[in-house]
Amino acid sequence: MSDPGQLGFTVAPSRSQKFGAAEGDGIVRCDACPVLCRIRPGRAGACSRYANVDGHLVRTDPVVLMQRTVDDGRRFVEFAGAAWDGQMLDPSRTFVTGVGAGTTYPDYKPAPFIVSAEHEGVDTVTVVTEGIFSYCGVKVKIDTDRHLGPETAPVRVAGEQVGHVTTAEYGSQMLSIGGVRHLTGGSKKEGNVTCDALLKLCSGEPVEVTIDGGHGVVVQAGAPPVVDGRPEERMRVGCGSATIGIFAQQWAGHVDEVIVVDDHITGVLTEHQAGRCLDMRSAGIRVRGRKSTPGRYFQVANPGLGWGGTDVTDPLSLIQKIDPAVAWPGLRLLFTSTTGEDALYCVLDDNLVPVPAPMPPAIGTVVDRIGENCEPSLCTVVFMAGAGGSLRAGVTQNPVLLTRSVAKGQTRVTLGGAPAYVWPGGGITIMADVTRMPKGSFGYVPTPAIVAPIEFTLPRALYLALGGHEADVTSLAEVLRATAGEARVEPWPEHNPWPLDQGEGR
Ligand code: SF4
Repeated sequence: MSDPGQLGFTVAPSRSQKFGAAEGDGIVRCDACPVLCRIRPGRAGACSRYANVDGHLVRTDPVVLMQRTVDDGRRFVEFAGAAWDGQMLDPSRTFVTGVGAGTTYPDYKPAPFIVSAEHEGVDTVTVVTEGIFSYCGVKVKIDTDRHLGPETAPVRVAGEQVGHVTTAEYGSQMLSIGGVRHLTGGSKKEGNVTCDALLKLCSGEPVEVTIDGGHGVVVQAGAPPVVDGRPEERMRVGCGSATIGIFAQQWAGHVDEVIVVDDHITGVLTEHQAGRCLDMRSAGIRVRGRKSTPGRYFQVANPGLGWGGTDVTDPLSLIQKIDPAVAWPGLRLLFTSTTGEDALYCVLDDNLVPVPAPMPPAIGTVVDRIGENCEPSLCTVVFMAGAGGSLRAGVTQNPVLLTRSVAKGQTRVTLGGAPAYVWPGGGITIMADVTRMPKGSFGYVPTPAIVAPIEFTLPRALYLALGGHEADVTSLAEVLRATAGEARVEPWPEHNPWPLDQGEGR
């Protein structure tokens, strides 16, 4: 979080907000959030988002406009990325985002921008604001099968609990960070550390977390996780059973048994249905753990940073027994992890003891293919927030109608132009991938809470029927005129659906 203080930049007077109250000695009281900073001339408030410029309350960051370009008259592609020359933008290709738009508090005041535009013959309205979210957090997906810490274990930053380990997903460990309890329900320090961690994660910055009973991880949206100082490279190809299913045919004829080591489901080829369908002879090698179904074993070891997310560093330790009535001298045995990073080839000697041996090329090729089929390991940060509170009053005087309209898919919700997933059920609980949002989308206020852009786009007739603030509707052309030369213009990311295309990308 940046410190408030003397302005180190200039702010155009047209960014002056409709709100804020002048007090004596040139002081302006900012009323854009509950902190109600008294800001001296030439200085910024506690969040650095608002400043006192010549007695006016001013939003310090430019509003972000996003523009798409046309290459063949039909298909829209990214804005060329060249610096904006300040000329009037084409309204048919421009979207006003909530980034830098400003906040209203308390929320019965209309949103900073309520923009009307015509799209494919339909009059539309986009309500644009920066929401202050006390109910928010991030879900972090970390593509690794390494055990980062026990489920439900506290996740800490600088010693403060900011979240917990939640249910692992397929090939990924998951963290839940933030949320109202950590922002408001603990000590002041816990709330501030949580808010700071959220702001950094949402802004694409690295954050080092530690997990009680587990490991240290550096998490950064769109970057590989770094576990105990070691960057992760591969996301596993699948669980042990799935790896058997994928590669069984390629192993058949080259090896007599394959054990794919995995913390969740370790696979044993000749027992597995895949091996049976290929008429593979039983090898008589029993692994440790609890047998689930043929060739699929749970809990073969403890979780850890070793082979396949277990604590195993010597795969031979997984063998419980070798049945002399079934196994035979010369039996070719392969152990591999689910990423192919760890592999060991053995041959049983005359006493049926596995002896490590050079891996034949045909088998090495399949192990390499496991690695080739692994996707790069990344961290994904998804912002999740509740927009079903007083924020709605800046959109309409009858908020429940907005909630219902969003639930029915009549009103599109975007965050900085990025599509939001809206949870079914009550409220407006949204999720968005932070990497699809413009840089600098997020801010904070010291209540503490996270500030994030949000836009609601809907047909104008519906907006009025919802009880929208009709008197505050401004044409897009007028917004573009008012912000010409001051707004930040960004290219529209082609992978984001155009918010005014109703019915697309919901
Ligand atoms: S912390 Fe709140 S009151 Fe203070 S400048 Fe920021 S938005 Fe305004």
